[in-house]
Amino acid sequence: MRYEGAVYRPPSEAYSLIIQATIGCSHNKCTFCNMYKEKRFRMRSLTEIIEDLEMARKSYRHIKRIFLADGDALALKTEYLKQILIKIRELFPECERVGIYSAPKDILRKTKEELKELHELGLGIAYLGIESGSEQILKTINKGVTSEQMIEAGKKMVESGIKLSVTIISGLGGQELWEEHAIESARVVNEINPHYLGLLTLMVEPEVEMYQDIRSGKLKLLTPEQVMLETQLLIEKLNVKGCVFRSNHASNYIPLEGTLPQDKERLLNQIKGALQRGGFKSDYHRRL
Ligand code: SF4
Repeated sequence: MRYEGAVYRPPSEAYSLIIQATIGCSHNKCTFCNMYKEKRFRMRSLTEIIEDLEMARKSYRHIKRIFLADGDALALKTEYLKQILIKIRELFPECERVGIYSAPKDILRKTKEELKELHELGLGIAYLGIESGSEQILKTINKGVTSEQMIEAGKKMVESGIKLSVTIISGLGGQELWEEHAIESARVVNEINPHYLGLLTLMVEPEVEMYQDIRSGKLKLLTPEQVMLETQLLIEKLNVKGCVFRSNHASNYIPLEGTLPQDKERLLNQIKGALQRGGFKSDYHRRL
């Protein structure tokens, strides 16, 4: 397969065929993110994408899932995406699901009918980084949308029939805003009621803007215990139905997994137990 630069995909797409439909991220301005800093956003030509799909067809007998990269391939025009999905159906009739990263503005630019059409053509899941529900934090990290726009985008996706997987980043508000971060993130997630909710813990590389804020003391990172308290508050405030919750990424201090609301008490007890025991894994991966 032909790939340009580093390619990222969600953990649940670990066994998917990855096709770069776009290069980079059309926003590329979040202060904590360095995933696509070295890439200038552009869409790949349909000819190139189809060549990649044909190459994959020749190499693999069975493709269960396909993931369209890079950062927000949903930025592509609907007609363009439809042609890609039609080609996928033609070449990979066995493919059960096509996934895509989506930025909130990409979703807002499309009508619900357009999203429904994409769903009917095989787009099964979209991944959306909410990061935080706090207006102040969204502004500080330069996410490019308000919490109300985030809610509108998330709801539109859910209503289209496409499964929605969202992420929140623990510790994003630092010590000053951890309570607001937990409460407001729960508010936004509750309004959207996504199918999946992932909780990552903030990891900052030296190349990103946020690194300087941490070095200068403007943003004070949470201790592992504070991250747990923030997670506890977030889960307490969540009021979603049929939402699979996962906090089992390498960045998380303890692995948590369950379906809400039925597993809420068990998750809260796990956190309580972890806080009592202490001894969280080291911070080696935070590089600060
Ligand atoms: S929208 Fe996503 S990929 Fe793009 S800069 Fe922000 S966090 Fe990174």
